[in-house]
Amino acid sequence: MAKKKFKAETERLMDLMINSIYSHKEIFLREIVSNASDAIDKMNYRMMTDPSIGISKDDLRIDVAVDKDERTITVSDNGIGMSAKDMEKNLGMIAYSDSSEFRKNLEEGADSDVIGKFGVGFYSAFMVSDKVTVVSKAYGEDEASVWESAGADGYTIRKGERGSAGTDVIMHIKNDAGENDYSEFLDPVRLKELIVNYSDYIRWPIYMDVETGEWKETGEKEDDGEPKREYVTTVQNKVINSMVPIWQKDKNEVSDEDCKEFYKQEFYDYEDPVSVIRVKAEGRVSYKAMLFIPKRAPHDFYTRDFQPGLQLYSSGVLIMEKCADLLPYYLRFVRGVVDSPDFSLNISREMLQNDGTLKAVGSNLAKKVRSELERMMKDEPEKYREFYGSFGLQLKYGVVDNYGADKDVLKDLLMFESSAGGMTGLSDYVKNMPEKQDKIYFIISDSAEHAKNLPQMEPVLEKGYGVLLMTDDVDSFLVNILGEYGGKQFCNVSTDDLGLESEEEKKESDEKEEGHKGTLDFVKETLGESVSEVRISRKLKNHAVLLTTKGNITFEMEKYFKSLPGSEGEMLKASRVIELNAEHGFFRSLEETIGKDKDRAAKMVRIMYGQASITAGVPLEDPVAYSDLVLSMF
Ligand code: ADP
Repeated sequence: MAKKKFKAETERLMDLMINSIYSHKEIFLREIVSNASDAIDKMNYRMMTDPSIGISKDDLRIDVAVDKDERTITVSDNGIGMSAKDMEKNLGMIAYSDSSEFRKNLEEGADSDVIGKFGVGFYSAFMVSDKVTVVSKAYGEDEASVWESAGADGYTIRKGERGSAGTDVIMHIKNDAGENDYSEFLDPVRLKELIVNYSDYIRWPIYMDVETGEWKETGEKEDDGEPKREYVTTVQNKVINSMVPIWQKDKNEVSDEDCKEFYKQEFYDYEDPVSVIRVKAEGRVSYKAMLFIPKRAPHDFYTRDFQPGLQLYSSGVLIMEKCADLLPYYLRFVRGVVDSPDFSLNISREMLQNDGTLKAVGSNLAKKVRSELERMMKDEPEKYREFYGSFGLQLKYGVVDNYGADKDVLKDLLMFESSAGGMTGLSDYVKNMPEKQDKIYFIISDSAEHAKNLPQMEPVLEKGYGVLLMTDDVDSFLVNILGEYGGKQFCNVSTDDLGLESEEEKKESDEKEEGHKGTLDFVKETLGESVSEVRISRKLKNHAVLLTTKGNITFEMEKYFKSLPGSEGEMLKASRVIELNAEHGFFRSLEETIGKDKDRAAKMVRIMYGQASITAGVPLEDPVAYSDLVLSMF
């Protein structure tokens, strides 16, 4: 029979896995059992939606058998099964195809659950097996097929025998080698222990031959007249898992650790979630939910590959793997399970959008998640900051989306870096404002570090006021949408009137401006259309110049629009304003030069404009010309 090659990436991954020093080799069991359970879920779903199938739900089961002499472990299920074609598709390649990242993870964290993280479940069997044989018959097909592989060099598929639909995964366990004790998996007691450990919550019964012993009276008497007893062992085929899904169990029956373990297994994370939220609702619609807030964004979170959504169950039957429409988009990082006897088995997207019951469930769950985040922010600030580092951006988008429809429920969850050091929420910022301060000052820049040193920060910091250092693309939009918080207006340190001057100071500044009108006109003329206004700065103390904007479009928005495809972005330019510090040596020197040598003065102005652009983080239009200009001065 012709041996087929695995897809190249699959082969590489298998190679890595077979030869890895991965320390949790036993997880192969969990992966194979969980595949069996998924297959039964699919079968059960078929049965629920098509009652003509003559199988009873009570017959659905998983069997685990060990043969010490043959060195095999067999995991069987009477689930949906696979046809030869399915085998080709499902077992011939690994869905996740970046072996280099996988390798890095294996090497870096032999202790973390990389197998789960990369969704290479089935292949984990090769960590402990030198050959894997899969005998399967798909539901509704007449023929069974056998898939077999002895490792990375390829696999075969041939016709086989199997009575009814389902799958047997037969793992031929490796011989012990050095420190690697594979025989432990062939010990039924150890095997049972592992299954109970990892797969207790599996919704279908897992049967295994279990040896049980008891003291029995022999009928004879001991010398002292007591009945004689002997220890008799019997082997019984028994259900070894408790089967009750973890989310159905009462809070006091399940430890936090159990929930975290469940999360990691079910949602392929190798780290504990930052939070577990349990909901038990009774009323118009009754349901139980177990939701998780992950610690870190999965590697594909910000790509189109990421599929958000909660698992929906109807009385323990999986009806939807990823229901994305239940929670609002900004909570798409939340994972978990919702189970209700009131959910219809044939739930559809349309129903999710229109069905009042489901909407009510969704909005209640969203509320629970938000209040858990609020609690965490207050009680476990370290943890919250960690969460925020991963998903804060998502919350910010939530504020901006739908013209700010959700801003009021999200604004208290926002955090920003502060000039005072550390991160702060808006409510703390306002609480800590000195009495005289009546605005929320913020600056938008590429990096917080950069922002701290910008010239326009001086006057605000000098007053002892804190400034929020904003660095995300979405921040400009965010502040626009929020407008105010707690009755305090947001004030952009770069562009807005800081409101720090007294009436008298204002008058003084106006007069100063008037006195330097000739110089300002000269600068404006020299720079032409590039800038819309040149004025004497009321903000600068030690720096010579500041390039800022007026109107609604900031530099950050300009950059963002520019990055969008299409030419329209080019049209949306920030309206530039030059602010000059009349007390600075440069200004005095410029005034002097204007009187003596207009050409040289014009060059000074253009250099000043270039410097101001660089400080503001705005790219120079023509860096070569600019460099030539600077060097022509010497
Ligand atoms: P995952 O379970 O993450 O999809 P696996 O590598 O574990 O990845 O399995 C690949 C696929 O093989 C599964 O998605 C499923 O379609 C199929 N499969 C594995 N085991 C079984 C089984 N016991 N019965 C039916 N199909 C199975």
